[in-house]
Amino acid sequence: MNSTCIGCSACVSISSNVFELDDDGLSCVLPLDDYSGQDVDDSISACPVNAISWQEADSDGNYLGGIKEHEDV
Ligand code: SF4
Repeated sequence: MNSTCIGCSACVSISSNVFELDDDGLSCVLPLDDYSGQDVDDSISACPVNAISWQEADSDGNYLGGIKEHEDV
């Protein structure tokens, strides 16, 4: 569950291979082996509430394999 998402669907419109709206109408990330080549940066820029960010790279400088949407706290 993403507490920041307001369900505007901008990310889904831009990157339908990466994001979808769940049963609650909030964005979730689809599991992919590789998110490069997708329009993820455009979705991040388009999100009006900054709910999407890349995961931090590991100590080797590699992305850990996905996108993190802000979690409930
Ligand atoms: S993550 Fe952002 S762009 Fe995507 S549906 Fe939620 S509010 Fe909209």
